[in-house]
Amino acid sequence: MNSNKDYKAIIIGAGPAGIGAAMKLYKSGVKSILVVDRNDRIGGIPSFYKKKKGGVRTFMRWSRGGYPVFGEDFAKWLESLISETDIEVKLDSQVLEIDAKKKSVTFVNPKDGKVIVSADAIVMASGSREENIAERKWLAGARPSRVMYTKQLLNLDRNDLLPIKKPLIIGSDTIAYAAAAKLKVAGAADAIIVDNRSNPTCPIHERLYFRFWTNPSFHGFNVDTMEIKGKESATGVLVNGKHFDCDGIVISGELIPNSELALIGDIKIDIPSRVPVVNKDHQLSESGWFAAGNILGGFHGAEWCYFNGKKTAGSVLKYISKS
Ligand SMILES: Cc1cc2nc3c(=O)[nH]c(=O)nc-3n(C[C@H](O)[C@H](O)[C@H](O)COP(=O)(O)OP(=O)(O)OC[C@H]3O[C@@H](n4cnc5c(N)ncnc54)[C@H](O)[C@@H]3O)c2cc1C
Repeated sequence: MNSNKDYKAIIIGAGPAGIGAAMKLYKSGVKSILVVDRNDRIGGIPSFYKKKKGGVRTFMRWSRGGYPVFGEDFAKWLESLISETDIEVKLDSQVLEIDAKKKSVTFVNPKDGKVIVSADAIVMASGSREENIAERKWLAGARPSRVMYTKQLLNLDRNDLLPIKKPLIIGSDTIAYAAAAKLKVAGAADAIIVDNRSNPTCPIHERLYFRFWTNPSFHGFNVDTMEIKGKESATGVLVNGKHFDCDGIVISGELIPNSELALIGDIKIDIPSRVPVVNKDHQLSESGWFAAGNILGGFHGAEWCYFNGKKTAGSVLKYISKS
């Protein structure tokens, strides 16, 4: 086991919120900052969206006049901000445990092994993820191959390995429509989108934006269960007696906060939403612990999260100056 180094601030997550928080702290004179992330690169979710000729830009830069950019470019911008500082960044480092009272964080990585570090203040900026099949309850039936989440789709797309030609997408949020566009750009047919609600949750103006690349058909059902079909590979879904053919399924779930660490550390989270309980300053139930970005629930774009990280850092600064 290594370390026990003390920092002024530790940030869990090098996504837009974590980098926003780190930059604000750094620019305000806090020099001993550690950012920890389990990914091999800075940028969080945007870093998975590869820049491609003719590809789909799904991240907005509102502060630059409101234009869409590739996630990869957004992530590179975050990386360039950090590269001009001496903020310490530990990548490939999974945070496994926190101790709220000791204000310590335990992480592991292949190079350092197990490391325990502590700080005056800690920001949880671990983002959110899609609900898995079990959490989506209404998915029954087989578990063949070629059933994936949009995050896995992004990984395959990064490596030009998208295997689906006739896609069916379960869920109808913005991420679902972005996935449909991505698949079309990669050579697939227009997707079939199925959801257990009567209208898509993706707002109309965003659906119109994605029409530039694709025109998926939406099928809404007021049902509790949907069945995945296929023995070795997904061949379709059965909903309310209606069968939809496909050669691959992408699941785009509602987003839920990555708040498990808070739960482990006895920091209060709201059940069942799993949103950490915060006060108006984004301070968590334990002194010295803060939260920023998509861990706070809902669906927020990357730049919103970046500014939210900065806002949270403002509260961290006040806390550090008093302690
Ligand atoms: C699948 C998916 C697709 C999305 N697509 C879009 C899109 O196209 N456009 C858009 O505007 N928004 C999109 N979003 C919303 C997106 O989450 C936000 O835009 C933004 O990235 C949130 O910033 P964040 O910093 O809060 O979290 P994230 O970007 O999720 O960053 C959190 C970071 O914390 C790290 N982390 C989490 N837990 C641990 C741990 N235990 N130890 C170490 N590190 C940890 C993660 O590796 C990650 O890098 C998408 C979200 C998801 C889940």
